[in-house]
Order: sequence, then C-alpha cells, then structure tokens
Amino acid sequence: MYELKNIRNIGIIAHIDAGKTTTTEQFLFYAGKTHKMGYVDEGTAAMDWMEQEKERGITISAAATAFFWKDCKINIIDTPGHVDFTVEVERTLRVLDGAVGVFCAVGGVQPQSETVWRQSERYKIPKLIYINKMDRTGADFFKVVDDIKNKLNANTVVIEIPIIEEDKFIGIIDIIRKKAFMFESETSIEVSEKNVPDNVKEQTNTLFNNLVEKLSDVDMEIMEDYVNGVELTPEKLQKALRKATLARQLFPVFCGSSLKNKGVTMLLDGVVDYLPSPVDIKTVSGINPKTKKENKVDCNIKGSLTAYVFKLYNDVNAGKLFFTRIYSGRLKKGDIIYNWSTNSQEKVMKIFEVHTNKYLEKEEALAGEIVVLSGLKKSYTGNTLSEKNNPIIFESVKFPQPVIYVSAEPKIKSDYEKLYNAFFKISEEDPTLSIKTDEETGQIVIMGMGELHIDVTTERLRREQKLDIRLGKPEVAYRETITQTANGEGEFIKQAGNKGHYGHAVLRVEPLDRGGKFIFEDVSEKGKVPMEFIYAIEEGVREALEAGPLLGTPMMDIKVELIDTSFHATDSNEIAYKIAGSMAFREAVSKAAPVLLEPIMKISITAPEEFMGAISSDINLRGGRVERLGTLDNIRFIEGFIPLRNIFGYATILRSLTQGRGNYIIEPSFYEVVPPEELKRIRGS
Ligand code: GDP
Repeated sequence: MYELKNIRNIGIIAHIDAGKTTTTEQFLFYAGKTHKMGYVDEGTAAMDWMEQEKERGITISAAATAFFWKDCKINIIDTPGHVDFTVEVERTLRVLDGAVGVFCAVGGVQPQSETVWRQSERYKIPKLIYINKMDRTGADFFKVVDDIKNKLNANTVVIEIPIIEEDKFIGIIDIIRKKAFMFESETSIEVSEKNVPDNVKEQTNTLFNNLVEKLSDVDMEIMEDYVNGVELTPEKLQKALRKATLARQLFPVFCGSSLKNKGVTMLLDGVVDYLPSPVDIKTVSGINPKTKKENKVDCNIKGSLTAYVFKLYNDVNAGKLFFTRIYSGRLKKGDIIYNWSTNSQEKVMKIFEVHTNKYLEKEEALAGEIVVLSGLKKSYTGNTLSEKNNPIIFESVKFPQPVIYVSAEPKIKSDYEKLYNAFFKISEEDPTLSIKTDEETGQIVIMGMGELHIDVTTERLRREQKLDIRLGKPEVAYRETITQTANGEGEFIKQAGNKGHYGHAVLRVEPLDRGGKFIFEDVSEKGKVPMEFIYAIEEGVREALEAGPLLGTPMMDIKVELIDTSFHATDSNEIAYKIAGSMAFREAVSKAAPVLLEPIMKISITAPEEFMGAISSDINLRGGRVERLGTLDNIRFIEGFIPLRNIFGYATILRSLTQGRGNYIIEPSFYEVVPPEELKRIRGS
C-alpha cells in the first residue's frame, strides 16, 4: 500500500572511490533486487548502467533506482563522484529528502566529499554518516569522526562502533541497544546478536551517555526522563534521534565494510529510522511566473500536480527520458500537463519506475515518488511541470559556464551531421556542455567544464552511436571584460537603392563585479524613438557582446546604459538601430580598457609526503598558488589554484610527479585577468 510516510528519497554523497557504488550495490542486493552481487571491480555493478561507466569504474549519470526495505520504498539516486560533474550533483540534491555521506575509514574527509557535503547543506538535507572500508588496514573510525566534526562542522553522534580484533573487523556495537552484532566469518553476511564484549563495555557506556546528553540538548522529553532517572528505551531514543536528524541538529554515525557485506543492513535500517519521508518535508516553494510571488506546494497527494525534472536522458532505444520528482498530486499516463519553465503543454505518454537497470511501467505516479516520464517534447533538466491553472516554477539549478573547448570531427566526413546531432542531444541533457559550429573552419566545437567532462561525453558517443570521433587540442574558453567606464556612439546612416536607413545610439559601458554578467538599461529621454528601436539597439549590443575587442571571445560582467538616441521620420528602421547599437558598444568597450579573463581552476591533490615538495613547486611553475596544505593519516593533501591554460593533461603530469601515487580533482573556480605579457603571447600565437 502506498503511503507517503513510507517513502525515502535518498542520495549517497561521497568522494570518488569512498565506496558509493559498492554501497548502493549492497543495498540492492540486500533488498533482494539484484540476485547476483555485482562488484565495481568486475564492472558489473547494477547502477553503472551506462556502458562506459562500467569501464571507467566511475558513476557519471545520476540514475535513480527504487527498492524495498522493511515497509519502506527507498528511491536511491546515485550522485556522480567527480567534480567535473558537480552540476549533476546539484540537480540530484534538489530532489533528495535525505542522504548518506559515505567516507573511507582510511582516507577520511577527502576534498570531493567536503564539496558535496557543503552543497547538500545548502539544500538543508538531513544526513547519516557511514564510515566504510572498516576492513582495511589503517582504518581509524574515531579519527574519521573527528575529521568530519572539524572539517564539516557537523554535530556527529556515534550510534555504532566497530569491533576490531587483531586488525580484523569482526563485529559492530549498536550503542542505542547496547548489543554486539558479530560477523560469522570474514565474507559471510550472517551476523549473530551477542552481549557487548567486556573489553568495550566501558566505551559503549560512555558513548551511550554521550548520545543521551546530545539528545537532551535538543529534546525536552529526553532531558526530563534523563533528569528524573526514567528508563530511556531504544524506541524513545530512536524517536528523539529521528527528530534531531531531520532538524539537522545531529548526524548519526554508522560503520561498516560494504565490500565485505558488513554493516550494510544496519545502515539501511538507519535510512528507514532516521531519514525523512516526503511527509517530513511538508512544503517546498517555487515562484508563480505570472505574479512573481512565492507559490508554496504542500507535499500532498490530494494537491494539484507539481513535479520537477531533474534529469533528461536521451536513451538510444527509448528516446528522451525525464527523471522527475513528483512533489504533489498525482500524474496518470496520458495526462496533459503544463511546463511553466518553457511555456508548453505536454502529454505524458508513459510512466516508469527504475529498478536497478530495468524500467518498469506504471499507470500513475504519486506525490513523493521519483519516476521517469516519456513523451514530453519541450521539457528539459530543471523544468517544473504542473497544471495550467497552477503556474509555478521551482528555482532552477544555476549552471556554471563552460571553460574549455575542443574541436571535434568525424573520421568519416559523411558522419558530420550525425555527430552534430549526437552532441546536440547530449547538450540538451547536460546544460554545462554546449556545442557550436566554428564559422571560419566549419568545425564542430564542444565546450565543457574540463578535460574529463569532454572525454566522457565523447566516449559515450563513440559507444552509443558507433561514431568515430577525432578531438582537437583542448583550448581555454577565454572571456573579455572592461575595467573602466566609457561612452561610445554609433550612427548608421545609409542610402541603399531608393531606401534610406537611419539608426543612432549613444551608450555608456561600466564594469560589473565578477559574476555580474550583463545588464542593459535604457536611461535615455523617453519617447524619442519607438520602443522597438530600443529593443533593436539592445539586440545589437547583445550580438556585439559575443565578440570582444581583444580576441573576439565573449564579454561578461558589463553594464550598458543607453544614454541617447535620435530619430528620422522616414529612414529609421530596426536593422539600422541594431547596427548602431553594435557600433556604439564596440566603440565604448574599446575605450574602456578591456582585459582578457581566464578561468582559474581549483585543484585538490592527495599524495604521500615525499612528493609534496615537487607538487608545490610544479603548481608555482604553472603560475598557480598553493592555498592549503594538510595531513590526513600519512596522506598529505594540497589545495591551490592554477590557470586552466597551464593545467591541461594534468593526469599525466601528476602521475610522473608522484610515481602514480597522487590523486587530484579539478573544478572551475573563478575568472582572473590574464597578465599583459601572457595576453601578448596568446594574441601572437
Ligand atoms: P565510488 O567511486 O565511491 O562509487 O566507489 P566504489 O564503490 O567504486 O569503490 C571504490 C573501490 O573501493 C573499489 O575498488 C571497491 O571494491 C573498494 N571498496 C568499496 N567498499 C570497500 C570496503 O568496504 N572495503 C574495501 N577494502 N574496499 C572497498
């Protein structure tokens, strides 16, 4: 029976390699959904349903899958682990009610887990903490708990501890019940319930008291019982812990070894016991696009339909599939709905629910569920679906601009169109990827967030579309801006045949702070020219903005004011004002001390101590700077910033600097002005 309170929509967030895929796989295994256990190492994990993910062993697309545990239906959304795909993480976070943070018992809080944790805090997502890989030598549960407290500023509460004997992970103590769960053997999934062994009794009591104290800080009932010496039963403690976890006052900590089937079922119980159901979320708010006022949605099956598309996936066989979260109401197969983000009416042809890599068809989808829709024509990632009489748009995820571009051509010339269309489809799915045709060379140019991003996309096309693709050298997507205020005037007065053209614009350009993008304001005397000519001027400016005065690259962070214009009774026309707008803008920016901007990448590297010196001097050599150095176990980490132009092929560079023992992640961080000597070099080349 469907009951909203029995649904858990959760995600797993972690640093790459912490064990997200293995843990998900184990969830599915225990839930009896996958009969053969797939291991990532063998490339058979059920969540890795895109061919190349199997090969790379990394999970790229957010695939949603459902399974049952106890009386709950758990929808698990697999978030990608690489920062090049951060935007995928953001989309996923938007639709989650809760999450499990998976940390490696040896590696602790690694850079990516820190980034994703912070992102999830922004979305106010309650979380459980799971310390995985307890079977590994060097695993240190409490050290990782401290690391989480310090780095993530999370109020952790330990409710399980590992029992380690002679370096072997042999059982788990449940602090709430004060019971030990001993593993029958190293690989077996069988456990037996025992009393807490004598040697850890004291520690168990201390942690139990610690749990009670933390709960009494946030829960009056527990406080009263505690003070009055009333027995605190596991049920009472669990109820209070659920409340505190939902309110993000506490983050319960679990432990286990997903690879060795240890602790996973206790974690699953934790998901059911402590993570929110859609009922606990109660309301989400969007904007009414007509009135621009807030529109609140009650997560209720009786309400009017509202849903959010968090992923569009072009399946080779099934066509466009829309991973969608239903927030309220119900949606039936064949329903006509309205997409307020693209102002289009849509018909839902089919509704599916994904179980591992199988799509099971459903007749209807209800509030709280995560489903896959097909048949929509004008819907994209980040769109809100509702009914025509209930205008609503949820805040769309903000997508960063691509920083890298590369030319792509098919080995077989006649595949050109196929290649273009294939990339275009992917760019529909992934707003951080864009595609255009180079006007001069006629080549296809793909733009993205990093080398891996482009690589993975190309790889997918090679496989799915059987396209042989040749990629050019990756290049930096430079931008231009101005550093001063200046005016410019454009006049377009021409006689062509027996028709006259008249357009005139005077503009002032002004630099904006980084991220200010583009603002156009008309401050000229009202009524001097009809409004359509003002729009034409703005259009001309927007066109000119695409090619700056230095390298012809797009300009950003500029405010443009239209300060004057004039009118000709017979010759004024839109084309002429558009050209005048472009001319005035070009004159103004060339006088406004234009500069070239380049993307600066944030890099986080982990490597053994002995390579740190070589890595930092290499960062400096590349015109970068080291921001933070630290140690976790005997692994050192270094964080810094490097201009993108100096970091291509870093995977190979780091490998040779560290004899293959370094790991790194890179993400676009901000734009900085290119130094003049570098600009000269770039312009000369
Ligand atoms: P993801 O990148 O976070 O999805 O991590 P994976 O699930 O792909 O795991 C990364 C690697 O760690 C794989 O080689 C797994 O076999 C291994 N791994 C995962 N969980 C454990 C564990 O509990 N113990 C040990 N020793 N290895 C694990």
